[in-house]
Amino acid sequence: MSSPVRVLLIGAAGRMGRSVADLAKADPKIDIIAQCDLGDPIEPAMKNCDVIIDFSQPGAIPEVCRTASNQRKSLVIGTTGHSQEQRRTIEKTAESVPIVFASNFSVGVNVLFWLTRKAAELLGQDFNPEIIETHHKMKKDAPSGTAKTLAEVSKTVQKKEIPIQSIREGEVVGEHTVIFTGPGERLELTHRAASREIFARGALRAAHWIMGKPPGLYSMQDVLGL
Ligand code: NAD
Repeated sequence: MSSPVRVLLIGAAGRMGRSVADLAKADPKIDIIAQCDLGDPIEPAMKNCDVIIDFSQPGAIPEVCRTASNQRKSLVIGTTGHSQEQRRTIEKTAESVPIVFASNFSVGVNVLFWLTRKAAELLGQDFNPEIIETHHKMKKDAPSGTAKTLAEVSKTVQKKEIPIQSIREGEVVGEHTVIFTGPGERLELTHRAASREIFARGALRAAHWIMGKPPGLYSMQDVLGL
């Protein structure tokens, strides 16, 4: 068996960080060799890792990208809510190291991205899309990164602005519905996440996949071959 992928986990004390660490304990192919949270120095923690998994906050990205680029380390970025400038930093960093950047690591949501593109193509201009997303009250960004990706997917085909409604309530892990309303009919596609483990599992899958890849910006669709 090849040696495990050595991971530095950033945002380790958060909800997603803890979920990734728990799942990795049961995965002999993943070794979390270092963990950082707010205030921990990232540079020394990165030295011996193969891949960095980031589930923190957008403000971490300049330091994470600069250090990963200097040390030529692969990145799996799950954090959402980046500004335009922060996204440009990620794109620039991907010129020197491989990065998987995904607003949602679940297999189901990535199939939803695929289905949304297909539905927009098949339904055409007579149908108007809209998106409703619901998350727990602690979620900091709105709309969710997943809702923005769904809107981008649909807009690429239909060239229309897509309204997004964001609901923050209770403990909801994540729900996304894409609605296409046409003359006399309506099509709805819904994904409901029951546990954060689905995102953690996808991020670990991306950490395996990225090993040996050339520099570039990859999506979870690339990882899944969709
Ligand atoms: P959280 O608030 O529970 O955890 C974030 C953690 O990051 C905290 O422990 C915080 O102290 C730490 N942190 C903040 N700034 C930091 C910095 N500069 N350096 C290091 N650590 C820092 O949030 P969460 O629910 O775990 O979500 C984390 C991120 O992941 C959010 O952006 C969320 O939207 C995103 N998310 C993505 C997916 C996906 O599939 N891509 C799924 C769920 C959540």
